[in-house]
Formats: sequence, C-alpha cells, structure tokens
Amino acid sequence: MVDLSTQYQQIKQEVDAGIQEVIDTTQFINGTATKTFATALSNYLNVKHVIPCANGTDALQIALMALDLQEGDEIITIPFTFVATVEVVALLKLVPVFVDVDPDTFNIDVNAIEAKITPRTKAIIPVHLFGQSADMEKIMAIAAKHNIVVIEDNAQAIGCDYTFSDGTTKKTGTIGHIATTSFYPTKNLGAYGDGGALFTNDDELAKKVRIICDHGSAKKYYYDSIGVNSRLDSMQAAILNAKLKRLDTYNDKRQQAAALYDAQLANIPGIQIPVRAQNATHVFHQYTIRVAENRDALKEHLGALGIPAMIYYPVPLHMSDAYASYGYAAGDFPVSEKIAHEVLSLPMHTELDEEQIQFICQAIKSFITVPA
Ligand SMILES: *Cc1c(COP(=O)(O)O)cnc(C)c1O
Repeated sequence: MVDLSTQYQQIKQEVDAGIQEVIDTTQFINGTATKTFATALSNYLNVKHVIPCANGTDALQIALMALDLQEGDEIITIPFTFVATVEVVALLKLVPVFVDVDPDTFNIDVNAIEAKITPRTKAIIPVHLFGQSADMEKIMAIAAKHNIVVIEDNAQAIGCDYTFSDGTTKKTGTIGHIATTSFYPTKNLGAYGDGGALFTNDDELAKKVRIICDHGSAKKYYYDSIGVNSRLDSMQAAILNAKLKRLDTYNDKRQQAAALYDAQLANIPGIQIPVRAQNATHVFHQYTIRVAENRDALKEHLGALGIPAMIYYPVPLHMSDAYASYGYAAGDFPVSEKIAHEVLSLPMHTELDEEQIQFICQAIKSFITVPA
C-alpha cells in the first residue's frame, strides 16, 4: 500500500543528520527540532498555533478536553471514519451523534447536520476523509448559527486547500476553531513512529491545549487542570522537519498517481473512481474506488497477483460492537453502510510509477471482464 523505504532513501542524509543532532544535543524531549517543526508547520499552514503532541488520537482527545464539556454533551461526527474520531468522544463520556456521509466525497453530509443539533450539541468533528476537505463553509455557517465548536480531524488531509465561495483559500485544519492531525508513518506527512498536533488561531484555546498536553500545568509542579502527557519527541520532529519541506511535492506525486489511476479506471462498468469535491483539492491519502459488485472477490484477485488493496472501513462505527450502547441500528446511516460494502483503497504513495499503476489497473480490468 505504501513504500516508505524508497522514500527514505531519497532523504536519508538529511533525516539521519537530523536524528544524529538530536542524539548529540540530548534534547530528546521538547528540543530545538520540535520547536523548529512547530514553527515551520504553522508557517506552512498559515495558522497561529501548532501544538505538537504524541499522536492523532491524543490530539482529538485534547481538543475535546480544552472545550470544558460536561458528561453527556453531544458531539456530531460521521460513522464512516477511523475509530479514533469516535473513541475519544466516548472515553470522555460525551455522546457521539452520527450524521451520514455524502456518497460522492465520503465526507459529512452537510444537509443532514442541522436535524441532529439539540441543546446539548457542543461540537462538530468533520473528518477530511481520504485526503479531501469536508464542506467547511457550510459547516462553519451551521456552527456559527448554533454556537457550536468545530474540530477538524485533519489526520488524512494535511496540505489540502479549501476554497470559499468568495474565492479565498485556506488549508484544511485552519478553518475550524481547532484542528487535529496525525503523523502516523503512513499519513501524508508521516514520522517514523507516532506523532500528532493541534492547530488553532485562538490564543485562549492554544493556551489551554498546551497546559493539557503537559499534565495540566502551566508552571512546573503546579496543576491548573487534569491533563495528560502528550508530546512529540525530538527525533520524530527532526524527521518531520525533513519531510515537511517536501510535503507539497509528495502530495503532487499522490495527485499524479491518482490521475493515472483515473485515466485507466474511469470507464469500467461497476467501478466508480474518486469523485472530486468542487471546492477543495484532494491530497489522496487514499485512492478509494467504489466497486458495485464482488468487491471482496476483486480484493482477493488483486492479492493473488501480489497487489495489496485495503478496505477502509469495513464496518461503520454505529454498527461496531463497542458503540452498540448508543442505540444505533443497521439502516440508520444507509450511505455509510452501502459504501462500507463497496470501497476499495488501492496502493497510494509517493513512489508509485506509471508501470505499477498500469499493472494494478490491468489486474482490475481482467477481473471485471472475466468475473471470478
Ligand atoms: C490516523 C487517524 C487518526 C489517529 O491518528 P493516530 O496518530 O494513529 O492516533 C484519527 N483520525 C483519523 C481520521 C485518522 O486517519
């Protein structure tokens, strides 16, 4: 699915030197590399505060903790996402309230949000799934009308540009009140271990987040609130410094690979190539097709030819055992349930070449014309 080894070979000198410097200076935690990275990322995104933390799941949890919510407060999000988005809501004894996704973009169906808002709704977590922005302009308008906080889960879309109807463009993760991301190795900006960050333009929220990340203390050994221990270690930051410089190039390569896939797969009956949102770029964290019939057999057929393919996500979260207590049932979110049976993510990374894509698409075509 990914080729991090070839990518590393091309930046080996810079990465190795960065790691060595961390060891030489023994600034393992909150060292210069971490500060340099936070500054570079805030410049890249054009956001006031970047607060690094240990991983993307922590980032989501910390964002929610910073909002001073009460047990039972409701958080709107989608059931068709990585579990972390919903897990942290449940862990904090908040209530996940699901809204179905749009069948084309797989992102939150903005027309279905308002019907789910109650006096207890405190936040919306749009997830920019697979590398494409949710419809942020509409989401921000709904949130403003109902006085709700927007937390963007930007783990899969770092570098994505969203354009508003007045023509202004912003990076995803800088539009909501606060945003989170992950530097998990396979993410578009991936470390060589765990990492994450929060972004915000709000000074008060930034201050709270920094305190929560450091055990709830602004001054060492004096505790203002109950916090967590969540830090980005300096070695990961050194690696991310080398990779952030190349993020746009990496995302371009993903887009080029996607265009090659598109050209090969556009007119195959029963295959739906990714649909581009009109108001956003797509940074292709995943290249995910919809297969109308026999998706699992196609996946097996590809596997037999040595081609990995993955199903993100096979079970919408409202149908997962862990979240059964929220009382949802099969049929509640028909789009999420349907696409869970149809999605198939093909290999997508910065080192894919035309020949590999040709081979993968040929394998898909041979299955479609001669079904198993
Ligand atoms: C990867 C991911 C996360 C969690 O990030 P970790 O660093 O693995 O904790 C959260 N949300 C989404 C949408 C993700 O893809």
